Parts: sequence; C-alpha cells; structure tokens
Amino acid sequence: MQGEAVLYEKVGGKVRCTACRRYCTLADGQIGFCGVRQNMGGAGSTLTSTEGPWLSR
Ligand code: SF4
Repeated sequence: MQGEAVLYEKVGGKVRCTACRRYCTLADGQIGFCGVRQNMGGAGSTLTSTEGPWLSR
C-alpha cells in the first residue's frame, strides 16, 4: 500500500526526498536507496502506509 510522502521537494522533472540525509533525487518511477520511497508521477510516495519516520499521509 502506498501513501503520499510529506518530506520531498520537486526539482525540475524529478523529486528530491528530504526524509534523510541521502537526499535521493528520483526520476519518475524510481525508488530511493532505502527501497521505501518512490517518485510516483512527480510526487513523493511511500511504498508502505505504516506510520513512522516516513510520515506518509
Ligand atoms: S529515498 Fe530513502 S534513502 Fe533516499 S533520501 Fe529518501 S528516505 Fe533517504
């Protein structure tokens, strides 16, 4: 289950995750280093709805 992530910013056509200091910059469909966060159509998304440090909504 996925939820829209809170901790991200749009950079050009990509999304930069700001949830940790890796600051992964993700193209559409790309999954971050952690395997938990993903760029889904230009918006940050978590691959789990579990509440926790990813702050999905
Ligand atoms: S995608 Fe994962 S590893 Fe990359 S910055 Fe976000 S939380 Fe950190």
